Amino acid sequence: MDFSLARVFAARNTIAGVADGTPLVPSALTETFGQEFLLKLEIAQPIGAFKLRGALNSVLNLPDGAKGVTCCSTGNHGRGVAFAARQRGLRAVVCMSNLAPQSKIAGVRVLGAEARIIGQSQDEAQDEAERLAAEEGLVDISPFDDPYVVAGQATIGLELLEARPDLDTILVPLSGGGLAGGIAYTAKQIRPDIRVIGITMDRGAAMYESVKAGHPVEVEEVPSLADSLGGGIGLQNRLSFALCREFLDDIVLVTEEDIYRSLQTVYYEDRIVCEGACVVGIAAVQSGRVVLTGPTATIITGRNLDMRSHADIMAGRDVVLGDYIVKGQSYGP
Ligand SMILES: *Cc1c(COP(=O)(O)O)cnc(C)c1O
Repeated sequence: MDFSLARVFAARNTIAGVADGTPLVPSALTETFGQEFLLKLEIAQPIGAFKLRGALNSVLNLPDGAKGVTCCSTGNHGRGVAFAARQRGLRAVVCMSNLAPQSKIAGVRVLGAEARIIGQSQDEAQDEAERLAAEEGLVDISPFDDPYVVAGQATIGLELLEARPDLDTILVPLSGGGLAGGIAYTAKQIRPDIRVIGITMDRGAAMYESVKAGHPVEVEEVPSLADSLGGGIGLQNRLSFALCREFLDDIVLVTEEDIYRSLQTVYYEDRIVCEGACVVGIAAVQSGRVVLTGPTATIITGRNLDMRSHADIMAGRDVVLGDYIVKGQSYGP
């Protein structure tokens, strides 16, 4: 396995002053949950999401003379790659599927990258990135399965344990597993007894199914309130699968209804506007699927959401996700 704590410390130096040092704040949910509950606010990143850590580390480590970069992305990795490529004066082409929200596509273009919209899944977007790499010589940067990317995301683990060496549990939103695998690996090198749990939505849970099967498997990708958690882990996965399988204590699934309610909770209780992907850790506790046993942190991973659907949820209106409807519910005890 091509990974080490040294890579994480090196990443920290590389991204210092640009993509590090986000706030760790107490949540109003500490009262409700009966354990200290902390939020790591990656929404404070220059691109509004933690993915800048990994993308920047990866792009800044490219050899001189690189022709440009490409990637597939549900939106935030593309934004990170676009930001990093602009810093190095490199061309960037971000491949996204038709499931990507308009706000995320616009977010990539505004940073000067080309957004290429292709197919109905992350896998199809990934195929296009690989084609660009083969035919145009661009470097394809995986959103979760690249040692530089994982090391970048893992710097969150260092920051968490430096701020709070006494943490009992870290709840990490999980998709391709670069974030959760990197944090779990890092936290356990420093504090082997810490509990790290990956959380994702129950519809299209690629890493969950893969860990259960013992090897990477494909799942059908469907629209979700947690759109940033969509997509497979790659049948040829080299790193993030092994990290998640070995270092996560558990993988917990939450429903769209859980995510809906927790988006309201974090807004009305903590006054935070964030993506559905961010609140899966909160949803896991609110739904009783995770029981807290000491000071706990979760990562509020990004804020690049569609504000209209956010307004619908805050007002308690129904949300339509393809052929699935999340029933509206107004917020209250
Ligand atoms: C990418 C992403 C995740 C999941 O990260 P992985 O490394 O793919 O598991 C969680 N939240 C947001 C907002 C993301 O963009």
